[in-house]
Amino acid sequence: MKNTLFQKDIISTEMFTRDDIALIFECADEMRTVVEKSGGNDILRGKVLAALFYEPSSRTFASFITAMQRLGGGIIPLNGMKHTSVAKGETLEDTVGVFEQFSDVIVIRHPESGAAAAAARASSHPVINAGDGPHEHPTQALLDVYTIHQHFRSIDDLTITLVGDLLYGRTVHSLMNLLFLYHPKTIVLVSPSQLKMPAEYNREAKKHAIAIHETDSLDSVVGETDVLYVTRVQKERFDDLSIYKTLKHRFVIGRQTMKLLKKDAVLMHPLPRVGEIASEVDDDTRSIYLSEQVKNGVYVRMALLSLLVKK
Ligand code: ASP
Repeated sequence: MKNTLFQKDIISTEMFTRDDIALIFECADEMRTVVEKSGGNDILRGKVLAALFYEPSSRTFASFITAMQRLGGGIIPLNGMKHTSVAKGETLEDTVGVFEQFSDVIVIRHPESGAAAAAARASSHPVINAGDGPHEHPTQALLDVYTIHQHFRSIDDLTITLVGDLLYGRTVHSLMNLLFLYHPKTIVLVSPSQLKMPAEYNREAKKHAIAIHETDSLDSVVGETDVLYVTRVQKERFDDLSIYKTLKHRFVIGRQTMKLLKKDAVLMHPLPRVGEIASEVDDDTRSIYLSEQVKNGVYVRMALLSLLVKK
């Protein structure tokens, strides 16, 4: 397939076409084979990734680093900016302008919506959004859809249920945009009324003729679900932590919920979980948040890095 992503910025999943996704998936499949056979290759030898993380991260950060290393490239790993000139008051634009001199691709995570787009404007190299505040987290959504696709061979006709903090959860925003490229049977949105999906996503679903079902009752919808995607209430977005505390464990998946879930459904979470999925269900074969999702993150990020950097 033709590489349509060379030198592109990955800021929002709104940018992708079905063909782009097919390209990323095909490349991710190849990366899986490479890693399983020999651990990696050298296709990005001589290229450098700058990872600028202004907000905490475990998986996204480590999986980008691993991805670049498995492709033979170099890394500038800054997980936390407090020991950099950012602490002296350097602007985002200046920091990005400097790091683009050292690198060929920049991955950025930042607490403000729109920061990744601002970084992309300041950089002549591709910039990948690894999470900008409550806005988007495109690479998480790519690995999520890749994982769903692997399981069901298609996204079409599935009932996909998103649970938890749909207001501030950036992964579900990016995921919605990708689901709009397909024909899921229904997207079910389960949240407390204070944490509902922003209305623009519902409007967009309508344009794509995708059925949306909003509810605050998980038990009433779980039996119809193929993909149960659970998210954490985003504590860092609350000014008033007493409100956070009343909402954080509104939905907890335990053995009871798993009994209602179809035999061939999957239970997903972008992680970290902080009590929304009880560890008692970790051994259930439908639980794939600690295994497949995490692994696929590396293959998808390897695919993306190679497509952006190498023609
Ligand atoms: N790791 C994901 C993110 O950075 C999910 C989360 O933190 O809840 O958005």
